[in-house]
Amino acid sequence: MLNRDTLYATIEAARLQAPGTGPTTPAMGLLVVRAQRLREFERLFGYVASERLQVAMADRLEHALRRVDSVVSIGECAFAVVLPQLHDRQHAALAASKVARLMREPFEVLGRSMRASITVGGATWPEDAASADELCQRADAACADAVHQRERHALSSRGGGEAVAHDALHDALLRNQLQVYLQPIHAVAGGQLLGFESLARWQSDDGWIPPSVFIAVAEQTGLIDELTRWSINATLRHCADALRAQPGLTCSINLSPRAVLEHGIVEQIGSSLRIWGVPPQALIVEITETAFVEDPETTASVLGELHATGVGIAIDDYGTGYSSLSYLRNFPVTELKIDRSFVAGMAGNPRCEQLVAAMIELAHRLGATAVAEGVEQREELEALQRLGCDRYQGYYTARPGPADDVLAAARPALEA
Ligand code: C2E
Ligand code: CA
Ligand code: CA
Repeated sequence: MLNRDTLYATIEAARLQAPGTGPTTPAMGLLVVRAQRLREFERLFGYVASERLQVAMADRLEHALRRVDSVVSIGECAFAVVLPQLHDRQHAALAASKVARLMREPFEVLGRSMRASITVGGATWPEDAASADELCQRADAACADAVHQRERHALSSRGGGEAVAHDALHDALLRNQLQVYLQPIHAVAGGQLLGFESLARWQSDDGWIPPSVFIAVAEQTGLIDELTRWSINATLRHCADALRAQPGLTCSINLSPRAVLEHGIVEQIGSSLRIWGVPPQALIVEITETAFVEDPETTASVLGELHATGVGIAIDDYGTGYSSLSYLRNFPVTELKIDRSFVAGMAGNPRCEQLVAAMIELAHRLGATAVAEGVEQREELEALQRLGCDRYQGYYTARPGPADDVLAAARPALEA
């Protein structure tokens, strides 16, 4: 490892800066940021490109971090980031998520815009490790694990971190710190408002925690049942009036793969619909293809039962997960949501546009609706119009916002 002495000295300095922490409060954290498949990158673009990538990554890291954080180079396109003075473990998760997001953006290298496969792993002291060496190992192991994460970042799973995260999220659920945000969904042809997707938001005492972080915490710590119950009830509470007043309007709720396997989920959704007086046809549950990996039979049977009650079933992030289509044989899907990576890739990439066209056609052949996610530009919407896509959502028309604000803004459109 290059600069090992510098790195260890920086970690020691950060440990000494630790405030008076209790046994469950991390004092400092370490991120490891690495470009994966570097040899492949070099074969494609040359050694000079990887040298430039190294510089560009360092530059982006320096700009992303707090003044107290330090970046140390630990190898080819690999960096360690020392994070002193953390409030809690989520703070480290937040830093990892921010760095991973920035690293997903393309880099300008040798006059070309290129993307690199970069993952971020984090570990905190004293929870995950007793020494600087162990902290580096833990963060590096998490960085390797992050290859399997959609968002390309992960925290070390060792230590009491899960317990702390569990307590913080549990507390947030009790204290009503979670909020329902809604993103409008519109018709591709004609543009009328057709529904909303419910997206959870958590404003913790230390700032916003991204859903990718707290949903993963909920899944790992067994709080997903509680979060799902909250999400269904809170969403229906906000949307019930609009859904009753406007037949045909729909509200979509994300169900995580584990939530589908929760005992009694079909009855729970049914009873929430009855309590809020919402017809089942107005509700769509969104699940990702990965839901079919763990227990395909039970997943298909639960979704079949749910569908039989009248609730719509959408496949979320379509095209990014489980590649086999066999699961589509076993239950009736009502909506395919084309992942935003395909939508964003359409401009100037005919193959991407062909893929989107094929997904729309597949949806229609299955008797389902095609929904495009993440529409940010007019050109994308125009392409979707040409391709006959049914619905879309995206920043081009509307960002997710607090449920009451979005519903108030939608009222004139709904009354028209
Ligand atoms: P998702 O279900 O794929 O949700 C769509 C994500 O795309 C949302 O991110 C939304 O804010 C974002 N988005 C919408 N339009 C655009 C656009 O034009 N451009 C870009 N770049 N992004 C756009 P968000 O809210 O951060 O949620 C992330 C993921 O967290 C969701 O992905 C979903 O999988 C999960 N999630 C959010 N709320 C819940 C929830 O209540 N329950 C469960 N189980 N998962 C949730
Ligand atoms: Ca979704
Ligand atoms: Ca999605």
